[in-house]
Amino acid sequence: MNKYVALLTKVHLHPLFWLLSGLAVMTAHFKQLFILFSIVFIHELGHAVVAQRFSWRVKRILLLPFGGVAEMEEHGNRPFREELFVTLAGPAQHVWLVGGALLLWKYDILSFAHWQLFFHYNVAIVALNLLPVWPLDGGKLLFLLLTRFLPFSRAHRQMIIYSYAVLFVAIGGVCFLAAKQLDLWAIVVFLLFSLWKEWKHHPYIVMRFLLERYYGKKGQYAKWRPLTVEETETVWNVLDKFYRGQKHSIIVVKQAKERAIFDENELLHAAFADKQLNIPVGRLIYG
Ligand SMILES: [Zn+2]
Repeated sequence: MNKYVALLTKVHLHPLFWLLSGLAVMTAHFKQLFILFSIVFIHELGHAVVAQRFSWRVKRILLLPFGGVAEMEEHGNRPFREELFVTLAGPAQHVWLVGGALLLWKYDILSFAHWQLFFHYNVAIVALNLLPVWPLDGGKLLFLLLTRFLPFSRAHRQMIIYSYAVLFVAIGGVCFLAAKQLDLWAIVVFLLFSLWKEWKHHPYIVMRFLLERYYGKKGQYAKWRPLTVEETETVWNVLDKFYRGQKHSIIVVKQAKERAIFDENELLHAAFADKQLNIPVGRLIYG
């Protein structure tokens, strides 16, 4: 099977989508649901096709009524540029979708009402997806940006805190402007749940990033950054300071005097092969 066609087998519908389909049956809003479904589907396929193009491992494409999630088996070790393209590939689909629909309307193939509905759905999906709230595309861009300036672990925590802040402002807006809109509340609940899960999984997410760094392909680092650490700090504390896409040397000091320099692989080896996550790095020097 062609690898792009194989992506279709990874499409799953979120339970909320079935719920909405049920509501559509009762309220005869089939057309709206179909249009919404098609837009979300193409948006997610945009992410997946570009990811496939970079040979990422695509886990599944989950479709929700108000957007979707293209889940990847990648943990923060792909080049910055690839991640940026994969993330932007979703929102970029709306450009040609809207452009195409506009042409169809101009040539009288699409009625004005349908064009308007299509346009509004596209705008709503893009606007929602670009909110800097995890796991929306805007949240992913925020995380990517933070990893440029902060260690991976700190960037991940900060990203969740910023996401919560933006979400609470958005909740205020919903209460004030559209408190009766159930679909917006469904989105809010979904995002609150996703953020809570992401926060809870923080240690595993950092661990996966490090494991992938240890076992995965080496040599895609854009920059070299030495890390100076006290000999009393644990191996885990030091690994927690690793940056995405940057190669590290670890300079171990005691009372401001340099004691040893380790390559990052030596530390990763100590952590994962020798299971010495909780010992002070100083112990690695003396045996
Ligand atoms: Zn997206």
